Amino acid sequence: LRRRIVRAEKMEVVGHLAASISHEVRNPLTVSRGFMQLLLQSERMNYKDKQYIQIAIEEIDRAEAIITDYLTFAKPAPEHVEKLNVKTEIERVIDILRPFANMSSIEIQTSLVPFAVKGERQKFQQCLLNVMKNAIEAMPNGGTLRINVSIDKDYVLIHIGDTGVGMTKEQIERLGEPYFTTKGAKGTGLGMMVVYRIVETMKGDLFIHSEVGEGTDVYMYFPSYYKSDIETSSKRSRFEQVSY
Ligand code: ADP
Ligand code: MG
Repeated sequence: LRRRIVRAEKMEVVGHLAASISHEVRNPLTVSRGFMQLLLQSERMNYKDKQYIQIAIEEIDRAEAIITDYLTFAKPAPEHVEKLNVKTEIERVIDILRPFANMSSIEIQTSLVPFAVKGERQKFQQCLLNVMKNAIEAMPNGGTLRINVSIDKDYVLIHIGDTGVGMTKEQIERLGEPYFTTKGAKGTGLGMMVVYRIVETMKGDLFIHSEVGEGTDVYMYFPSYYKSDIETSSKRSRFEQVSY
């Protein structure tokens, strides 16, 4: 028993370490990037050296992007499944992305209803962030990011639409494939993989509609928090029918 407790404690430590990565690793990355940026401005540095520094900066940006797609909301505390208010969670993610949207003159329109779903807060927020971030990145010259919440039978439907570059059929098919990106060194090709995994663990579903040059609509379905109760009661009535 004692050994098992020690193992559990160790696992917890590992969990803490993984979760701390986003916070602990980001700071030194930011500082290193800052100094390299300063070096780039130095007049004593020749063209070749500046090119090396430029590559180093791009690699730091890449590390930063990977952390963003995986661990933006990672918390030192262990996660647990709970009742989540989709309106609150979406608003939290919008707050984080708003400065980013402003940089590209993107208007954010929302129609949010406080429906409840079941899941781990950190993962749900990561999922929303990755989809909304893609939408913003698809509109470098401005546009509209639309986020609607509605109910469809036993599912809460979150619709995230953009007026961006859109995708070809081939691109839609490859979505979620690890390392598939059209963003070159700036992309990780991991964002949608993470999204699909989280949607799956929440027993949800995801649909994409996209037209090149028109924009993209992502529809995410999550079982309503109350769905489990509905299921239990329908099972009970079926049982009752059998017993008659
Ligand atoms: P990354 O954003 O790092 O490229 P993702 O897995 O998040 O990786 O997305 C993979 C690719 O899917 C993107 O590079 C892009 O080509 C395409 N994509 C995803 N979302 C959108 C969108 N809203 N509009 C246009 N293209 C998109
Ligand atoms: Mg992405």
